[in-house]
Amino acid sequence: MRIAMISEHASPLAVLGEEDAGGQNTHVAELAAALAGEGHDVRVYTRRDSAALPDSVSAPDGYQVCHVPAGPAQRVPKDDLLPYMGEFGRWLADQWRQGGWTPDVAHAHFWMSGLATVHAGRRTGVPTVLTYHALGTVKRRHQGAKDTSPPGRVGYERALGRTVDRVIVQCEDEVAELVRMGVPRSRMALVPSGVNQQVFRPDGPVAPRDPARPRIITVGRMVERKGFLEVVRAMPAVPDAECVVVGGPPADLLPADSFARRLTALAESCGVADRVRLVGGVPREEMGSWYRSADVLVAAPWYEPFGLTPLEGMACGVPVIGTNVGGIADTVVDGLTGDLVPPRDPRALGTAIRRLLADKVRRFAYATAALDRIRSRYSWKRCAEQLSAVYAAVSTVARPAPAVA
Ligand code: UDP
Repeated sequence: MRIAMISEHASPLAVLGEEDAGGQNTHVAELAAALAGEGHDVRVYTRRDSAALPDSVSAPDGYQVCHVPAGPAQRVPKDDLLPYMGEFGRWLADQWRQGGWTPDVAHAHFWMSGLATVHAGRRTGVPTVLTYHALGTVKRRHQGAKDTSPPGRVGYERALGRTVDRVIVQCEDEVAELVRMGVPRSRMALVPSGVNQQVFRPDGPVAPRDPARPRIITVGRMVERKGFLEVVRAMPAVPDAECVVVGGPPADLLPADSFARRLTALAESCGVADRVRLVGGVPREEMGSWYRSADVLVAAPWYEPFGLTPLEGMACGVPVIGTNVGGIADTVVDGLTGDLVPPRDPRALGTAIRRLLADKVRRFAYATAALDRIRSRYSWKRCAEQLSAVYAAVSTVARPAPAVA
């Protein structure tokens, strides 16, 4: 099949760890590679956010990345991209009508991509599929006035859910949110993300560490909702351990990052500054060595649409303590492959970390069961096969004659 993937702000080729570059970039890159590996002809459309980018480029994993000239040719925060989605959609429609390559299906990632994709789908008759990755209702609930989403996001998300041919949901929690929003369950297909088990595996290089000191690792973008503040607040309950925080800008730029400064100041006021180490963003290829260097991975977000880092840790054979939210509530089986604790509760987190660090047998049991779970359920190949079936189903839907632009 010819498959278009639309990911307006999250390029599969971006460097990860910075504020707007994380799981969606990885997801799109891995999924595009897995679909190409299944023999599909895949093109990823992402915004041209630098004048230096070529019109299109072949990714090493067998798919094509097309840079769409919509909005300024520079980085723009993802929440400010809405005004350019009409232009993005028109460009797609023109390409698909006249560019010699029309997809059999278009899969949008994130709601703004959904708007551009539906726009293009209406004009070309191409069937549309949407993965939200994150929902405005959830973000508003947790971030309140700090939510920088454009007004109307929730209404757009509801309308998209009722318009696209299929919504791909990634976890049970997302199903419940969407049903509450009024998106019919019958329009949804539950297909969780995978994890790259070549990159994330139990054997391989290990980042340097002090063998005498237990290591906790926590990974993600330097944003409040990832729960790093709660992890630091839990550290006084774990007197001997060190906590390594991976993510954010590269190490030399960390001092200029306001959230990193806040985290450092909190570590000082909690009396744990000598045991909390911020290493900054690291390239994806090095992530495995950081996971493998740890005794426990803590994933403590306030909310999490899916959460790739717990899967990556599990695939590296590291036991996980996660908050009982979003996709983590599906991927980590409490008491079997890891521990689940309530979000925003440093006390519960500290107790869980202390207990797990003191129990080598339990860590081993969690790591073994987690690896088993990863191998049986969370490969990108399985994800690509399940999505191929969804694409095949929607591509046979009879379309009304496309409207002329
Ligand atoms: N990541 C990375 N380098 C970093 C920090 C994170 O490559 O320094 C990757 C991490 O391995 C994972 C992704 O960024 O693949 C984060 O995805 P997740 O779903 O956990 O969070 P999101 O960014 O989507 O909120």
